[in-house]
Amino acid sequence: MEANMYLCVGAGFSCAVIARKLAEAGKKVTVIDSRSHIAGNCFTERDAETDVMVHTYGPHIFHTDDKEVWDYVNSWASFKPYINRVKTTSQGKVFSLPINLHTINQYFDKTLSPSEAKEFINSIADKSIGEPVTFEEQAMKFVGKDLYEAFFKGYTQKQWGLNPSELPASILKRLPVRFNYDDNYFNHQYQGMPEDGYTKIVENILDHENIEVKLELPYEKEMLEAYEHVFYSGPLDSYFDFKHGHLSYRTLDFKQEIHDGDYQGTAVMNYGDVEVPYTRITEHKYFSPWESHDKTVIYREYSRLCEADDIPYYPIRIVGGKDMLDKYVAEAKLTKKVSFIGRLGTYRYLDMDVTIREALDAAEITLSKINNNEPV
Ligand code: UDP
Repeated sequence: MEANMYLCVGAGFSCAVIARKLAEAGKKVTVIDSRSHIAGNCFTERDAETDVMVHTYGPHIFHTDDKEVWDYVNSWASFKPYINRVKTTSQGKVFSLPINLHTINQYFDKTLSPSEAKEFINSIADKSIGEPVTFEEQAMKFVGKDLYEAFFKGYTQKQWGLNPSELPASILKRLPVRFNYDDNYFNHQYQGMPEDGYTKIVENILDHENIEVKLELPYEKEMLEAYEHVFYSGPLDSYFDFKHGHLSYRTLDFKQEIHDGDYQGTAVMNYGDVEVPYTRITEHKYFSPWESHDKTVIYREYSRLCEADDIPYYPIRIVGGKDMLDKYVAEAKLTKKVSFIGRLGTYRYLDMDVTIREALDAAEITLSKINNNEPV
Protein backbone atom coordinates (compact mmCIF):
# COMPACT_ATOMS: atom_id res chain seq x y z
CA MET A 1 0.00 0.00 0.00
CA GLU A 2 1.23 3.47 -0.89
CA ALA A 3 0.68 6.05 1.84
CA ASN A 4 -1.69 8.91 1.13
CA MET A 5 -3.64 7.06 -1.55
CA TYR A 6 -7.42 7.19 -1.40
CA LEU A 7 -10.06 5.50 -3.52
CA CYS A 8 -13.45 7.03 -4.33
CA VAL A 9 -15.98 4.64 -5.80
CA GLY A 10 -18.48 6.44 -8.02
CA ALA A 11 -17.87 9.65 -9.96
CA GLY A 12 -20.97 11.56 -8.85
CA PHE A 13 -21.14 14.60 -6.59
CA SER A 14 -20.32 12.73 -3.36
CA CYS A 15 -17.01 11.34 -4.47
CA ALA A 16 -16.05 14.31 -6.62
CA VAL A 17 -16.39 16.70 -3.67
CA ILE A 18 -14.45 14.44 -1.30
CA ALA A 19 -11.77 13.66 -3.89
CA ARG A 20 -11.20 17.34 -4.53
CA LYS A 21 -10.86 18.23 -0.85
CA LEU A 22 -8.38 15.41 -0.30
CA ALA A 23 -6.47 16.30 -3.46
CA GLU A 24 -6.18 19.93 -2.37
CA ALA A 25 -4.72 18.66 0.91
CA GLY A 26 -2.01 16.87 -1.04
CA LYS A 27 -3.49 13.36 -1.08
CA LYS A 28 -3.52 11.20 -4.18
CA VAL A 29 -7.04 10.11 -5.09
CA THR A 30 -8.31 7.60 -7.60
CA VAL A 31 -11.96 7.94 -8.62
CA ILE A 32 -13.51 4.95 -10.35
CA ASP A 33 -16.91 4.47 -11.91
CA SER A 34 -18.42 1.44 -13.60
CA ARG A 35 -20.21 3.66 -16.11
CA SER A 36 -18.57 5.29 -19.12
CA HIS A 37 -19.15 8.82 -17.81
CA ILE A 38 -18.76 10.96 -14.71
CA ALA A 39 -21.51 12.84 -12.78
CA GLY A 40 -23.67 9.81 -11.93
CA ASN A 41 -27.37 10.40 -12.34
CA CYS A 42 -26.80 14.18 -12.56
CA PHE A 43 -25.19 13.60 -15.96
CA THR A 44 -26.18 16.10 -18.66
CA GLU A 45 -25.11 16.27 -22.28
CA ARG A 46 -26.05 18.07 -25.45
CA ASP A 47 -28.30 16.06 -27.74
CA ALA A 48 -26.46 15.42 -31.03
CA GLU A 49 -29.41 16.27 -33.28
CA THR A 50 -30.89 19.33 -31.56
CA ASP A 51 -27.98 20.61 -29.43
CA VAL A 52 -30.41 20.84 -26.48
CA MET A 53 -28.82 20.20 -23.06
CA VAL A 54 -30.47 16.99 -21.91
CA HIS A 55 -30.78 15.74 -18.32
CA THR A 56 -30.10 12.14 -19.28
CA TYR A 57 -31.29 10.59 -16.00
CA GLY A 58 -34.24 12.91 -15.45
CA PRO A 59 -34.73 16.52 -14.33
CA HIS A 60 -32.23 18.00 -11.89
CA ILE A 61 -32.84 21.48 -10.53
CA PHE A 62 -30.35 22.79 -8.03
CA HIS A 63 -31.99 24.25 -4.94
CA THR A 64 -30.75 24.76 -1.40
CA ASP A 65 -30.93 26.80 1.77
CA ASP A 66 -27.30 26.02 2.51
CA LYS A 67 -25.29 29.12 1.62
CA GLU A 68 -21.98 27.29 1.82
CA VAL A 69 -23.18 24.61 -0.62
CA TRP A 70 -24.58 27.26 -2.94
CA ASP A 71 -21.26 29.15 -2.89
CA TYR A 72 -19.45 25.86 -3.43
CA VAL A 73 -21.34 24.89 -6.60
CA ASN A 74 -21.11 28.45 -7.87
CA SER A 75 -17.35 28.30 -7.51
CA TRP A 76 -17.29 25.48 -10.09
CA ALA A 77 -19.85 26.67 -12.60
CA SER A 78 -21.86 29.60 -13.78
CA PHE A 79 -25.46 29.24 -12.60
CA LYS A 80 -28.38 30.93 -14.35
CA PRO A 81 -31.44 31.94 -12.33
CA TYR A 82 -34.04 29.19 -12.73
CA ILE A 83 -37.31 28.65 -10.89
CA ASN A 84 -38.88 25.21 -11.13
CA ARG A 85 -42.55 25.72 -12.04
CA VAL A 86 -44.20 22.35 -12.48
CA LYS A 87 -47.60 21.73 -14.04
CA THR A 88 -49.75 18.65 -13.77
CA THR A 89 -52.40 17.21 -16.04
CA SER A 90 -55.19 15.52 -14.12
CA GLN A 91 -58.75 14.54 -15.03
CA GLY A 92 -58.47 16.32 -18.39
CA LYS A 93 -57.20 19.67 -17.11
CA VAL A 94 -53.86 21.35 -16.47
CA PHE A 95 -53.13 22.59 -12.94
CA SER A 96 -50.36 24.43 -11.17
CA LEU A 97 -48.07 22.65 -8.70
CA PRO A 98 -47.17 22.53 -5.87
CA ILE A 99 -50.74 22.86 -4.61
CA ASN A 100 -51.24 26.61 -4.27
CA LEU A 101 -54.12 29.08 -4.29
CA HIS A 102 -54.36 28.88 -8.08
CA THR A 103 -54.62 25.06 -7.93
CA ILE A 104 -57.28 25.19 -5.22
CA ASN A 105 -59.38 27.86 -6.94
CA GLN A 106 -59.06 26.17 -10.31
CA TYR A 107 -59.83 22.68 -9.02
CA PHE A 108 -62.89 23.70 -6.98
CA ASP A 109 -63.94 26.44 -9.42
CA LYS A 110 -63.78 29.13 -6.74
CA THR A 111 -62.24 32.57 -6.17
CA LEU A 112 -61.09 32.10 -2.59
CA SER A 113 -58.74 34.47 -0.80
CA PRO A 114 -55.78 32.99 1.14
CA SER A 115 -57.66 32.89 4.45
CA GLU A 116 -60.84 31.54 2.83
CA ALA A 117 -58.84 28.83 1.07
CA LYS A 118 -57.18 27.83 4.33
CA GLU A 119 -60.55 27.56 6.02
CA PHE A 120 -62.00 25.64 3.06
CA ILE A 121 -59.13 23.11 2.90
CA ASN A 122 -59.36 22.74 6.65
CA SER A 123 -63.04 21.89 6.29
CA ILE A 124 -62.37 19.12 3.72
CA ALA A 125 -59.17 17.74 5.28
CA ASP A 126 -59.32 14.64 7.45
CA LYS A 127 -58.88 15.99 10.96
CA SER A 128 -59.23 12.59 12.60
CA ILE A 129 -55.60 11.81 11.66
CA GLY A 130 -53.06 12.53 14.39
CA GLU A 131 -49.37 12.55 13.44
CA PRO A 132 -49.36 11.13 9.86
CA VAL A 133 -47.21 8.04 9.35
CA THR A 134 -48.07 7.15 5.76
CA PHE A 135 -48.09 9.20 2.57
CA GLU A 136 -51.86 8.79 2.36
CA GLU A 137 -52.42 10.04 5.90
CA GLN A 138 -50.18 13.02 5.26
CA ALA A 139 -52.17 13.91 2.11
CA MET A 140 -55.60 13.32 3.65
CA LYS A 141 -54.69 15.43 6.66
CA PHE A 142 -53.25 18.39 4.75
CA VAL A 143 -55.23 18.62 1.49
CA GLY A 144 -58.18 16.23 1.80
CA LYS A 145 -59.48 13.43 -0.40
CA ASP A 146 -60.25 15.34 -3.66
CA LEU A 147 -56.85 16.95 -4.12
CA TYR A 148 -55.10 13.81 -2.87
CA GLU A 149 -56.83 11.70 -5.50
CA ALA A 150 -56.39 14.21 -8.32
CA PHE A 151 -52.71 15.00 -7.82
CA PHE A 152 -51.02 12.47 -5.55
CA LYS A 153 -52.70 9.08 -5.49
CA GLY A 154 -52.28 8.00 -9.12
CA TYR A 155 -48.94 9.73 -9.61
CA THR A 156 -47.50 8.16 -6.48
CA GLN A 157 -48.84 4.73 -7.37
CA LYS A 158 -47.04 5.01 -10.73
CA GLN A 159 -43.88 6.51 -9.29
CA TRP A 160 -43.42 4.09 -6.41
CA GLY A 161 -45.42 1.04 -7.55
CA LEU A 162 -47.09 0.99 -4.15
CA ASN A 163 -50.28 2.26 -2.66
CA PRO A 164 -49.59 5.57 -0.85
CA SER A 165 -50.83 3.89 2.35
CA GLU A 166 -47.66 1.74 2.21
CA LEU A 167 -45.26 4.70 1.76
CA PRO A 168 -43.87 6.98 4.46
CA ALA A 169 -45.29 10.47 5.04
CA SER A 170 -41.78 11.88 4.56
CA ILE A 171 -42.06 11.51 0.77
CA LEU A 172 -44.96 13.95 0.60
CA LYS A 173 -43.46 16.26 3.20
CA ARG A 174 -41.01 17.27 0.45
CA LEU A 175 -43.82 19.24 -1.19
CA PRO A 176 -45.32 22.46 0.21
CA VAL A 177 -49.00 23.42 0.17
CA ARG A 178 -49.42 27.17 -0.27
CA PHE A 179 -52.31 29.51 0.28
CA ASN A 180 -50.95 32.13 -2.13
CA TYR A 181 -50.12 32.18 -5.84
CA ASP A 182 -46.46 31.28 -5.41
CA ASP A 183 -45.87 28.36 -7.79
CA ASN A 184 -42.16 27.92 -7.13
CA TYR A 185 -41.88 24.15 -6.62
CA PHE A 186 -39.24 24.64 -3.94
CA ASN A 187 -39.14 26.71 -0.76
CA HIS A 188 -35.37 27.08 -0.79
CA GLN A 189 -33.63 30.43 -0.86
CA TYR A 190 -31.18 29.55 -3.65
CA GLN A 191 -32.17 27.94 -6.93
CA GLY A 192 -30.56 27.79 -10.36
CA MET A 193 -29.43 25.82 -13.36
CA PRO A 194 -25.78 25.40 -14.36
CA GLU A 195 -25.29 27.14 -17.70
CA ASP A 196 -23.10 24.35 -19.10
CA GLY A 197 -24.87 21.45 -17.39
CA TYR A 198 -24.04 19.32 -14.34
CA THR A 199 -21.41 17.14 -16.01
CA LYS A 200 -19.23 20.22 -16.44
CA ILE A 201 -19.42 21.00 -12.70
CA VAL A 202 -18.28 17.50 -11.76
CA GLU A 203 -15.61 17.62 -14.46
CA ASN A 204 -14.28 20.90 -13.03
CA ILE A 205 -14.29 19.55 -9.47
CA LEU A 206 -12.37 16.45 -10.56
CA ASP A 207 -9.84 18.41 -12.60
CA HIS A 208 -6.86 18.33 -10.23
CA GLU A 209 -3.38 16.93 -10.64
CA ASN A 210 -3.82 14.65 -7.61
CA ILE A 211 -7.01 13.09 -8.95
CA GLU A 212 -7.06 10.24 -11.41
CA VAL A 213 -10.42 9.21 -12.90
CA LYS A 214 -10.91 5.71 -14.29
CA LEU A 215 -14.19 4.96 -16.02
CA GLU A 216 -15.81 1.62 -16.85
CA LEU A 217 -14.03 0.16 -13.85
CA PRO A 218 -16.28 -1.54 -11.30
CA TYR A 219 -15.18 -1.78 -7.69
CA GLU A 220 -13.71 -5.04 -6.47
CA LYS A 221 -12.91 -5.94 -2.88
CA GLU A 222 -9.23 -6.57 -3.68
CA MET A 223 -8.82 -2.85 -4.44
CA LEU A 224 -9.21 -2.09 -0.73
CA GLU A 225 -5.68 -3.33 -0.02
CA ALA A 226 -4.02 -0.68 -2.16
CA TYR A 227 -5.58 2.33 -0.42
CA GLU A 228 -5.59 3.95 3.00
CA HIS A 229 -9.31 4.47 2.79
CA VAL A 230 -12.21 3.93 0.43
CA PHE A 231 -15.19 6.25 -0.01
CA TYR A 232 -17.91 4.08 -1.47
CA SER A 233 -20.91 5.73 -3.13
CA GLY A 234 -22.22 2.57 -4.83
CA PRO A 235 -25.24 0.59 -3.62
CA LEU A 236 -24.91 -0.47 0.02
CA ASP A 237 -26.34 -3.98 -0.49
CA SER A 238 -24.11 -4.64 -3.49
CA TYR A 239 -21.00 -3.92 -1.39
CA PHE A 240 -21.97 -6.79 0.91
CA ASP A 241 -22.84 -9.09 -2.01
CA PHE A 242 -26.56 -8.86 -1.10
CA LYS A 243 -25.99 -11.18 1.86
CA HIS A 244 -29.04 -9.84 3.71
CA GLY A 245 -31.13 -9.57 0.51
CA HIS A 246 -31.74 -6.89 -2.10
CA LEU A 247 -32.71 -3.39 -0.98
CA SER A 248 -35.54 -2.21 -3.23
CA TYR A 249 -35.14 0.62 -5.68
CA ARG A 250 -37.26 2.19 -8.37
CA THR A 251 -35.65 2.67 -11.74
CA LEU A 252 -36.78 4.95 -14.55
CA ASP A 253 -37.16 4.38 -18.30
CA PHE A 254 -37.14 7.38 -20.60
CA LYS A 255 -38.70 7.31 -24.04
CA GLN A 256 -37.21 10.07 -26.13
CA GLU A 257 -38.94 11.95 -28.94
CA ILE A 258 -37.73 14.87 -31.03
CA HIS A 259 -40.25 17.40 -32.34
CA ASP A 260 -40.12 20.62 -34.33
CA GLY A 261 -40.76 23.81 -32.38
CA ASP A 262 -42.23 23.39 -28.90
CA TYR A 263 -43.96 20.33 -27.49
CA GLN A 264 -45.59 21.21 -24.17
CA GLY A 265 -44.35 24.73 -23.44
CA THR A 266 -42.78 23.97 -20.08
CA ALA A 267 -39.95 21.87 -18.63
CA VAL A 268 -41.99 19.42 -16.56
CA MET A 269 -45.60 18.27 -16.97
CA ASN A 270 -46.72 15.66 -14.44
CA TYR A 271 -49.58 13.26 -15.13
CA GLY A 272 -51.74 12.61 -12.07
CA ASP A 273 -54.05 9.99 -13.61
CA VAL A 274 -53.08 6.39 -13.00
CA GLU A 275 -54.41 5.43 -16.47
CA VAL A 276 -51.62 7.44 -18.16
CA PRO A 277 -48.65 5.04 -18.02
CA TYR A 278 -45.89 7.65 -17.65
CA THR A 279 -45.44 9.86 -14.59
CA ARG A 280 -44.28 12.97 -16.39
CA ILE A 281 -42.94 14.49 -19.60
CA THR A 282 -39.78 16.55 -19.51
CA GLU A 283 -39.05 19.04 -22.31
CA HIS A 284 -35.38 19.66 -21.80
CA LYS A 285 -34.89 22.92 -23.65
CA TYR A 286 -36.98 24.68 -21.01
CA PHE A 287 -34.22 23.94 -18.48
CA SER A 288 -32.08 26.37 -20.50
CA PRO A 289 -34.55 29.19 -21.29
CA TRP A 290 -31.65 31.48 -22.20
CA GLU A 291 -30.93 29.30 -25.25
CA SER A 292 -32.94 29.10 -28.44
CA HIS A 293 -33.57 25.89 -30.38
CA ASP A 294 -35.74 25.15 -33.41
CA LYS A 295 -36.30 21.58 -32.33
CA THR A 296 -37.17 20.09 -29.01
CA VAL A 297 -36.31 16.89 -27.11
CA ILE A 298 -38.85 15.32 -24.78
CA TYR A 299 -38.62 12.39 -22.41
CA ARG A 300 -41.65 10.40 -21.32
CA GLU A 301 -40.73 9.03 -17.90
CA TYR A 302 -41.82 5.59 -16.72
CA SER A 303 -41.06 4.23 -13.28
CA ARG A 304 -40.71 0.56 -12.37
CA LEU A 305 -39.06 -1.78 -9.89
CA CYS A 306 -35.30 -1.93 -10.33
CA GLU A 307 -33.97 -5.31 -11.43
CA ALA A 308 -30.45 -6.75 -11.51
CA ASP A 309 -28.79 -4.68 -14.25
CA ASP A 310 -30.98 -1.57 -14.04
CA ILE A 311 -29.76 1.76 -12.74
CA PRO A 312 -31.10 2.36 -9.23
CA TYR A 313 -32.79 5.74 -8.75
CA TYR A 314 -35.11 5.93 -5.77
CA PRO A 315 -34.59 3.88 -2.60
CA ILE A 316 -37.96 2.45 -1.56
CA ARG A 317 -38.10 2.87 2.18
CA ILE A 318 -41.28 1.02 2.96
CA VAL A 319 -43.11 1.72 6.21
CA GLY A 320 -42.28 -1.16 8.56
CA GLY A 321 -39.64 -2.72 6.23
CA LYS A 322 -36.49 -1.52 7.93
CA ASP A 323 -34.92 -4.77 9.12
CA MET A 324 -32.76 -5.51 6.10
CA LEU A 325 -31.53 -1.93 5.91
CA ASP A 326 -30.67 -1.92 9.62
CA LYS A 327 -28.51 -5.02 9.11
CA TYR A 328 -26.60 -3.39 6.26
CA VAL A 329 -26.18 -0.12 8.14
CA ALA A 330 -24.85 -1.99 11.19
CA GLU A 331 -22.43 -3.90 8.99
CA ALA A 332 -21.30 -0.73 7.21
CA LYS A 333 -20.46 0.87 10.55
CA LEU A 334 -18.23 -2.08 11.42
CA THR A 335 -16.44 -2.08 8.07
CA LYS A 336 -13.01 -0.63 8.61
CA LYS A 337 -11.34 1.54 5.96
CA VAL A 338 -14.61 2.17 4.10
CA SER A 339 -17.01 5.13 4.35
CA PHE A 340 -20.43 4.66 2.80
CA ILE A 341 -21.63 7.89 1.27
CA GLY A 342 -24.27 9.45 -0.96
CA ARG A 343 -27.72 8.32 -2.11
CA LEU A 344 -26.81 4.72 -2.93
CA GLY A 345 -24.18 4.23 -0.23
CA THR A 346 -26.59 5.29 2.51
CA TYR A 347 -29.83 4.20 0.80
CA ARG A 348 -31.49 7.57 1.24
CA TYR A 349 -33.52 9.79 -1.09
CA LEU A 350 -31.03 12.70 -1.25
CA ASP A 351 -31.21 15.94 -3.17
CA MET A 352 -28.00 17.23 -4.72
CA ASP A 353 -27.44 19.92 -2.10
CA VAL A 354 -27.66 17.45 0.79
CA THR A 355 -25.28 15.10 -1.02
CA ILE A 356 -22.75 17.90 -1.39
CA ARG A 357 -23.17 19.08 2.21
CA GLU A 358 -22.56 15.57 3.52
CA ALA A 359 -19.54 15.12 1.24
CA LEU A 360 -18.02 18.42 2.40
CA ASP A 361 -18.51 17.34 6.02
CA ALA A 362 -17.09 13.85 5.38
CA ALA A 363 -14.00 15.35 3.75
CA GLU A 364 -13.48 17.72 6.66
CA ILE A 365 -13.77 14.94 9.24
CA THR A 366 -11.37 12.75 7.27
CA LEU A 367 -8.79 15.50 6.90
CA SER A 368 -8.91 16.38 10.57
CA LYS A 369 -8.38 12.70 11.47
CA ILE A 370 -5.45 12.51 9.09
CA ASN A 371 -3.95 15.67 10.60
CA ASN A 372 -4.32 14.21 14.10
CA ASN A 373 -2.80 10.90 13.02
CA GLU A 374 -6.02 9.07 13.88
CA PRO A 375 -7.23 6.13 11.81
CA VAL A 376 -9.64 7.32 9.08
N1 UDP B 1 -45.95 13.57 -6.13
C1 UDP B 1 -47.23 13.33 -6.57
N2 UDP B 1 -47.71 14.07 -7.61
C2 UDP B 1 -46.97 14.99 -8.24
C3 UDP B 1 -45.66 15.23 -7.80
C4 UDP B 1 -45.18 14.49 -6.72
O1 UDP B 1 -47.93 12.49 -6.05
O2 UDP B 1 -47.47 15.61 -9.21
C5 UDP B 1 -45.46 12.75 -4.99
C6 UDP B 1 -44.63 11.56 -5.47
O3 UDP B 1 -44.90 10.46 -4.64
C7 UDP B 1 -43.21 12.04 -5.27
C8 UDP B 1 -43.35 12.93 -4.03
O4 UDP B 1 -44.64 13.52 -4.16
O5 UDP B 1 -42.30 10.99 -5.07
C9 UDP B 1 -42.30 13.97 -3.88
O6 UDP B 1 -42.29 14.78 -5.05
P1 UDP B 1 -40.94 15.33 -5.68
O7 UDP B 1 -41.27 16.22 -6.80
O8 UDP B 1 -40.09 15.84 -4.57
O9 UDP B 1 -40.34 13.95 -6.22
P2 UDP B 1 -39.06 13.70 -7.15
O10 UDP B 1 -39.48 14.04 -8.55
O11 UDP B 1 -37.95 14.57 -6.63
O12 UDP B 1 -38.87 12.28 -6.97
